[in-house]
Amino acid sequence: MSTALKMPKLPLGKMKMLIGGELCAAASGRWLESVNPANEELLGEVPRGDKQDVERAYQAAAKAQPAWEAIGPGKRAEYLRKLADALEKRAEEALHIEVLDTGNTIAKMRFDVGSGLETLRFYAGIAHELKGMTVPASVGNLHLTVREPYGVVGRIIPFNHPIMFAISKMAAPLMAGNAVIVKPSEQSPLSSSILAEECQKIMPPGVVNIVTGLGMEAGDAIVRHPHIKRLAFTGSAKTGMAIQKAAAEVAVKIFSLELGGKNPMIVFPDVDPDKAVAGAIAGMNFAWQGQSCGSTSRLFLHDSIHDAVLEKLVAKVKALKLGEPLDETSQMGPINSKGQYEKVMYYIKAGQEDGARLVTGGKRPAGKQFEKGYWIEPTVFADVKPDMRIAREEIFGPVLSVFRWKDLDECLAIANGVEYGLTGAVWTNNLQTAIKTALRVKSGYVWINGTSAHYKGMPFGGYRNSGTGREEATDELLSYTEEKSIHIMLG
Ligand code: NAD
Repeated sequence: MSTALKMPKLPLGKMKMLIGGELCAAASGRWLESVNPANEELLGEVPRGDKQDVERAYQAAAKAQPAWEAIGPGKRAEYLRKLADALEKRAEEALHIEVLDTGNTIAKMRFDVGSGLETLRFYAGIAHELKGMTVPASVGNLHLTVREPYGVVGRIIPFNHPIMFAISKMAAPLMAGNAVIVKPSEQSPLSSSILAEECQKIMPPGVVNIVTGLGMEAGDAIVRHPHIKRLAFTGSAKTGMAIQKAAAEVAVKIFSLELGGKNPMIVFPDVDPDKAVAGAIAGMNFAWQGQSCGSTSRLFLHDSIHDAVLEKLVAKVKALKLGEPLDETSQMGPINSKGQYEKVMYYIKAGQEDGARLVTGGKRPAGKQFEKGYWIEPTVFADVKPDMRIAREEIFGPVLSVFRWKDLDECLAIANGVEYGLTGAVWTNNLQTAIKTALRVKSGYVWINGTSAHYKGMPFGGYRNSGTGREEATDELLSYTEEKSIHIMLG
């Protein structure tokens, strides 16, 4: 992917969504504004889609799906690869819009766009895993299963990695033979219009529909649509619970839920403090302001190295370069939205009220460039105790809570004692300790001497309120199919 940026002219104006192969506005004619979180200036508008638009999208998807299914996995894989190639040509433009719209820093976001394309190609590559089985269920007959798509799948995505999620989260359902309706977040919706334009050129009309709008309007209409049985949601646990309830009022539905995290990183005494610090900083994903479900936002330092690691950690966090997200050297940008900014500030205050020790950060950074926009310094709290709000609740911001531990059983009880169980990290040079501890961390994705990275082909998903289902692997592809048993009586 080229690194030279093609700067689009700002503001971007009224961008379109995609329904039934047409780039269009909302039926209501209403629009939603999106602002640059670095300076609060208007960047562009997207259609404020609602129930009418979701219905149009459903009708188009339902009409297009049988032919999409009928062409078979090989041809569908060709479409996905073609789409990835086309999007790659617009990667610079998408990257630029994405950085402006999210506030995430450009150097790391370049990887995001690439990861979306890689996911399209990954699922194209495992097209032929859509296989059934034969079962010796009775003597003299033949029993077999086939996998069939659900039909129309609804995918609702969050604000933190908009283009990566918009691209990658439609790959598996499409590969499995479904048509999709994607609902981007209203907080950072602009890059989805590039995806809409490329899908309009490449995909058969109606196979991909992108409906922008509010959660309570477009999102709710997808969730409550009586004929969209298979839903996949990435977002907060609170919304995840609300949509299960809403859907259950209408029909029996199947959900994948990729929800929040409050993830532990446990550091043993034998770890080089510099390595622990590097791992903890990478694990916080400061490049997108800690706004990552997988951020290891609870750091458990063994008593014997606690002070040494904390001192080095604070020095490194203080040295992080906050700045213009489009600057290649920036290491952290602004928080995504006003609402999210207020939420992070609430937790910083809560940490202080609950008695944690604020060791760095905790406020808007000084300087003219930070006067407007949603800027918060990277923040570290020490002496965090398990009953504090910053120890239990997902902040989804650049706030790291540091715990001191002596007894591993106690440490694990605290690490596992929150409502979430998405990721976790164990740091030690002792192989046995590493594996035994990793097995005791009650999370769906655990790194040993690592943090943050995702690996295609490895199932990603959460325990407890972090969600249900697994993505980024063959499991996800198969989860977009229903299994049918066929019994052939050979007489
Ligand atoms: P959110 O739950 O507020 O919104 C997510 C999406 O749901 C948005 O598109 C929104 O418009 C829509 N929505 C909101 N209310 C709805 C409703 N009633 N019906 C239907 N749709 C509705 O989450 P967010 O603030 O955009 O994202 C942050 C959250 O996402 C964090 O909790 C984070 O941990 C989580 N997340 C999880 C993963 C994962 O893979 N587990 C990845 C990224 C983010």
